[in-house]
Amino acid sequence: MNLETIIGLEIHIQSKTKSKMFCDCMNLSDNEEPNTHVCPVCLGHPGTLPVANKQAIYFGVMMALALDCKINKKSLWARKNYFYPDLAKGYQISQFEQPLSVDGHLTVTTSEGKERIGITRLHLEEDAAKNFHTKDKTLVDFNRGGAPLMEIVTEPDFRTPQQARAFLHELRLLARYLEVSDADMEKGHMRCDANISMRPVGDTKLYPKTEIKNLNSFRSVERALAYEVKRQTDLWEKETPVDYLSTRGWDEKELKTVEQRDKEESADYRYFSEPDLLPLILNEEEIKRIKAILPELPQEKVKRLKNEFGLKHHDAKLISEDKEVAKYFEEVMSETRSWLESLDDMDGSREEIWEKNKEKLVKLVFGWLTSEVFKHIKENNSNISEVKITPENFAEFITLIYTRKVNSSAAQILLKEMYETGGDPSNILDEKDLSQVGDTKKLNKVIEKIIKSNPNQVKEYKSGKEPLIKFFIGLAMKETKGKADPQILEELFKEKLTE
Ligand code: ZN
Ligand code: MN
Repeated sequence: MNLETIIGLEIHIQSKTKSKMFCDCMNLSDNEEPNTHVCPVCLGHPGTLPVANKQAIYFGVMMALALDCKINKKSLWARKNYFYPDLAKGYQISQFEQPLSVDGHLTVTTSEGKERIGITRLHLEEDAAKNFHTKDKTLVDFNRGGAPLMEIVTEPDFRTPQQARAFLHELRLLARYLEVSDADMEKGHMRCDANISMRPVGDTKLYPKTEIKNLNSFRSVERALAYEVKRQTDLWEKETPVDYLSTRGWDEKELKTVEQRDKEESADYRYFSEPDLLPLILNEEEIKRIKAILPELPQEKVKRLKNEFGLKHHDAKLISEDKEVAKYFEEVMSETRSWLESLDDMDGSREEIWEKNKEKLVKLVFGWLTSEVFKHIKENNSNISEVKITPENFAEFITLIYTRKVNSSAAQILLKEMYETGGDPSNILDEKDLSQVGDTKKLNKVIEKIIKSNPNQVKEYKSGKEPLIKFFIGLAMKETKGKADPQILEELFKEKLTE
């Protein structure tokens, strides 16, 4: 049977504001003593009034603009009623009709290609508290109660679990670029429910969907959806497709979904407009101002890095995965360029000099940054902001390699020292005596000695066993403690051995 998979996502992102959505209690207080960041407003005491958090609204607008949504200049607050111990007021303040923004999109790329995912809406709301289930009772921590959330609902545009995962990855990157949230799924700052149904290819109607809950990593989203694709395909093939709305939880240990309580219809929430808050009005000026402070977004950055530095798509993406890494890379490139242009023995205009050397320099900077520096960062469980090597020093390090003052094994030692101490590469080079021996007089002495003490190998080489050159170079490298330039050695050996 030829089936098509239909997936839509609902994502909640906790905004990184100082205070909660409708009161001035501290936000992001998950690691604090339970129930210490609460007040009569977020505990739902009678007679208290909510006041909307301007920062949370602005963060929502930023995210909505980054998703190319249309911002509603007037949006409405609504009460979503349900009973649960984590909901102090018995309702959640959310937005229902006329949300903050609608009609956006985000393009995702997977190994199968590109897919444009429609964004139905992005609206603002407050979070519920957190329940803790112990053996015989349930405890509630209200620190999270009333935290600011943005809820993002997508169109049912995903066709594969991989696309859903790629979307979440891209969404997290956006939130981090905008600095509106860390959007860590593991920490619950980004939560995702996935809706999935299947239909025969060619059919245009949508069949009842299954909602999957309890997804707390990108991997579990992809796995749970893949599991459902298989389960629902089997049901279709048995001619008993899912014919009712259902909710299933993802069991991370068993790696399967398990049916939960029946899904509530939106009518069950008895939405009505929030009488304690005025409509949310945004004027053109405000929206323009927010638009103006948006940073360069990840997909734009990838495009620019490819154009400006000739990076491959994959490499530009790797650099852009962290805004700070991209910034560091560009600073190093700019320092490297200044150095290049300051050399007096160069012909041509600044632009020509740069164009002639750019490819090699970009390759060096990218290579040393993403292999060695990343390795040290990983080993130290650190991040780019904590790296002590300044872009100036990193650029200087690159020039030492470029001008062959150090060879690559000495460069590794040099970089490690720079990483640990933040020291200046030229100083370390002298202190540690790492400079490459390129002096042919010195090297020729070493070479003569090696030739003299290895007559058999010399004979074999001369009779045509050319790969032996590697053997000679190896001995010379040992003799110079790894500081010789292997390329020069090869030339000199070839010269001597053909004499
Ligand atoms: Zn409060
Ligand atoms: Mn919600």
